[in-house]
Amino acid sequence: MQNQEHEKHPGLMKSVITNKCPHCRKGRLFIDSNPYHLKTSLDMPVNCPVCAQPYELQTGFYFGTGYVSYGLSVLFLMVSFVLWYVLIGISIYDNSVFWWLGICCTLLFLLQPIIQRLSRSVWIAFFVRFDPSAASRHKGPYPQVS
Ligand SMILES: [Zn+2]
Repeated sequence: MQNQEHEKHPGLMKSVITNKCPHCRKGRLFIDSNPYHLKTSLDMPVNCPVCAQPYELQTGFYFGTGYVSYGLSVLFLMVSFVLWYVLIGISIYDNSVFWWLGICCTLLFLLQPIIQRLSRSVWIAFFVRFDPSAASRHKGPYPQVS
């Protein structure tokens, strides 16, 4: 029973990480499910296909994702540094810090499409409140204008 309730209303973290609409937590934020299709990676529907929540709340709404993206990148570097320090060790007598830097910068570069999507997901979750009945109130499909 509790599992069904959880399935009905996914948690905030799960909906942000899986790039779901923050209003209903069911509709997908991005048209293309693969973030590595770089031409369509950041294409979003105008409205949520499930609850009709507009995804661009105002013109230039997603400019603020730069702050989130920066924060996520710094967090990634800090966590990787601590893991590297604990698991491999950092010393001034070898090149371990440069290996960490090179590997993490490469990883950060390769993870950019995922980080960009996650930043948009976090950013819109700041401004749109969750409404458990949003999905059932609205009956789709909604016209999608791109
Ligand atoms: Zn929605």
